[in-house]
Amino acid sequence: MASSDLPAPDADGVALASDGSEDPPLVSVVIPCFNEEEVLEELYRRLSEAAAEWQEALEVILVDDGSTDATWEKMEEIHQQDERWRIVRFSRNFGHQTAVSAGLQYATGDAVIVMDADLQDPPEELHRFIAKWREGYEVAYAIRKERKESVFKRAAYKGFYRLLSSLSRHDIPLDSGDFCLMDRTVVDLINQMPEKNRFVRGLRAWAGFRQTGVEYERHERAQGEPKYTFSKLMKLAIDGIFSFSAAPLRLATFFGLLVSAVAFLGIGFTVAQRLFSDWFAQFGLAPVPGYATMVISVLFIGGVQLVCIGLVGEYVGRIYDETKRRPAWIVQEEKGWEESPVDATPSHRLSGYVPEDKPR
Ligand code: UDP
Ligand code: MG
Repeated sequence: MASSDLPAPDADGVALASDGSEDPPLVSVVIPCFNEEEVLEELYRRLSEAAAEWQEALEVILVDDGSTDATWEKMEEIHQQDERWRIVRFSRNFGHQTAVSAGLQYATGDAVIVMDADLQDPPEELHRFIAKWREGYEVAYAIRKERKESVFKRAAYKGFYRLLSSLSRHDIPLDSGDFCLMDRTVVDLINQMPEKNRFVRGLRAWAGFRQTGVEYERHERAQGEPKYTFSKLMKLAIDGIFSFSAAPLRLATFFGLLVSAVAFLGIGFTVAQRLFSDWFAQFGLAPVPGYATMVISVLFIGGVQLVCIGLVGEYVGRIYDETKRRPAWIVQEEKGWEESPVDATPSHRLSGYVPEDKPR
């Protein structure tokens, strides 16, 4: 773009529109969608209505994470109606965290909101996050007051967040998901982080700056079934723990020491038993050839070793993932940009692969 095309900045560096009035700041909303055909219309309606009340301009990035239903067609319709809604389609399902990460790269707003498509995070609450941002916070993350989900799921989430915060060296806020608003500074920072097994809420907490929680009530899903299967949730939990804590490795050392200590005690005991067999016999502890003890100790030590190898394996697997340097996601189609805003060089920042000649 030639420099004359740029709006002239005023004294504070704020861009001025051609009539001399200040452009309102732009808020981007990133929404990952996986088989969400049923909710998209309601999402469009409710988010548009909510945003009409804001003073900020709106941009929405819908990321289709390889849906197999009519999600993409619905997204295209919405983009036709309202070009502030920009759409990206992955070549397959890469997972929620990857879709969020991609959306953050596409977003151009001064602040970026991340929310789910299923309206569990109500668009009507977003103005409270924006208010915090205006107060000067770089991150306003949502804290769920109450979850309208099953007892089991609630207990599992609670347990996980407490385990994670006790293991991690960084303060990851309890009961807060990815639903949040982040200032451009934080988004740029997260975009620079090249890791592929992404736990976005952890990266956000790691970034620092002024962060604050906004309490809200998590609603029920508007339509359809949850798209987070049990195995996807497990992957998320494991990514959270292994990407933000080396404590499991220490656990391996601890197990090793514990087992060695027990083994040394056993050796001492056996030697004493041989030397003072008469004394031990008074208590019914005369040495007997014991297969059971053998089998138990072999199984026990074997088990501990496997656990430790597994723990080390988690980290080695992660190192392997990172060194492969494959793109974190593949874009099949994107609509709403003249030129892809995503830098496709995977060298120094996380990036997706964007083929040159994809349809626009
Ligand atoms: N999602 C996604 N890719 C996936 C699974 C889920 O992009 O592989 C999206 C989904 O469309 C929704 C959000 O992630 O917008 C949260 O998913 P869901 O509502 O199923 O999770 P839950 O609310 O049960 O945690
Ligand atoms: Mg949901």
